Amino acid sequence: MSVRTFTSESIELFPDENILDIWKHFVESLRSNLPRQAFETWIQPMKPCAIDGETFYVQVPSRFYYDWIEGHYASQVERALEETFSSPVKLVYMAADKEAGDSGTVPTVPGSVPRCKSPADYAVVSPSFSRGNGSTNLNPRYTFDTFIEGPPNRFARAASQAVAAGKTSYNPLLIYGGVGLGKTHLLQAIGNEAFVIRPGLNIKYIDSENFTQDFVDAIKHNRADEFSAKYRHIDVLLLDDVQFLVGRERTQMEFFHTFNTLHQAGKQIVLTSDKPPRDLDGLDERLVSRIGWGLVCDIGPPDFDTRVAIVLRLAEEEGHTLPADVCTFLAEKFDKNVRDLEGAFVRLVAHASLNGSRLTVEKANHILRDSLIFRKPSVTLSQIQLTVSSYYNIPADLLIAKIRSQPVAKARMVAMWLGLEMCGLSLKEIGRNFGNRDHTTVLHAKKKVNKWIKDDKEFSKSMEELKERIYDEAS
Ligand code: ADP
Ligand code: MG
Repeated sequence: MSVRTFTSESIELFPDENILDIWKHFVESLRSNLPRQAFETWIQPMKPCAIDGETFYVQVPSRFYYDWIEGHYASQVERALEETFSSPVKLVYMAADKEAGDSGTVPTVPGSVPRCKSPADYAVVSPSFSRGNGSTNLNPRYTFDTFIEGPPNRFARAASQAVAAGKTSYNPLLIYGGVGLGKTHLLQAIGNEAFVIRPGLNIKYIDSENFTQDFVDAIKHNRADEFSAKYRHIDVLLLDDVQFLVGRERTQMEFFHTFNTLHQAGKQIVLTSDKPPRDLDGLDERLVSRIGWGLVCDIGPPDFDTRVAIVLRLAEEEGHTLPADVCTFLAEKFDKNVRDLEGAFVRLVAHASLNGSRLTVEKANHILRDSLIFRKPSVTLSQIQLTVSSYYNIPADLLIAKIRSQPVAKARMVAMWLGLEMCGLSLKEIGRNFGNRDHTTVLHAKKKVNKWIKDDKEFSKSMEELKERIYDEAS
């Protein structure tokens, strides 16, 4: 860690080269702790302005940037400050907001530090450094309110809410699922909710990487007892990404003891992992079996409606109205995980806020072209109908006809469901393309198929297979 101190007494409006070094550090720390996309979209447009005593002034293009960075990356910013400065520094973002009568750009000379206007000329947005809920490591953004419920996450969400409210029979609670599906969000939401409705609890969120690091540091500095005491006095322990403990025997052992102490004392433990516990090869058998004492629930990729709701929620949160077709476009194209969907939304909105222009599907396609290249090809309803008919060995025109025999009806429902999932069409549009059926019929099909998927593993697999086939044929 590089240590720097600053003693300048007044605001340096035409800063010396020192600030460039500092800036480099600060930015590099952020670069290594943020996804590339986030870094390029949000951090690169920031500019260093001045350091005045213990205040570090940086410029962002608009208030929107400040809101977004503070709302999403506050902990990374804080870490970057800690890594850059030897003592606490107050970070002040200066937004060249329209409200402040400024166009938002500060001219820069290549290779030099941009000249800042006097801070008084800017709308000083607010100091950073809100530490959420202190040492709990909770990010106030992740709450149940902001978590959109849909069929694949309903159970995990309900269980999480019960735990937050103090239902002790789910102990431990483990939530597992793929990347970007909301595990961390739910885990943090448990902490945030418990913090509010059961004040006074000692709550701690930590991911397994940091838990390991904390433990290794404690051993190194002969502070193992302190470490144990710290973790064994927690009322609600939220440990994220348990799969990172695989292969780390000593840390696992320590966690095992922590687990036992907490569990025996009736304290709540919540874990997440990317796989079900039995598939976590290399995780201590005893730990796997203890996880089985509680409740294990999975979380899957959100369906189309949930994705649309997530985009709408994001838009509302950020105070942006997205045209409906752009919303549908996003939900349709980014169907694998919520993180990518959010990333795409963020890029669109950043683009629109900088250019002040209205978004269209065409523009969205252009802005997101890099991320779309690797995505699945777009699919038409008639392709789906053809593939489904050959898969079930039923003539395609029967899917549209008014025939209600069992195999035909089932294939039709599957095709409707795939249409909803893969083409992003509305219930009405699907109905129209299936012999002018009513949208309630399509809704019924959707519910039926979702239920089959939930209840029948074989069926659920066949849906994945069908999707792959359709994508293969479309590309
Ligand atoms: P994971 O921990 O499963 O990899 P995260 O919890 O980090 O995923 O989720 C990735 C992003 O997607 C977060 O910004 C989170 O807020 C958002 N997200 C995931 N699922 C939902 C949901 N159901 N509703 C709203 N936002 C969600
Ligand atoms: Mg996570």
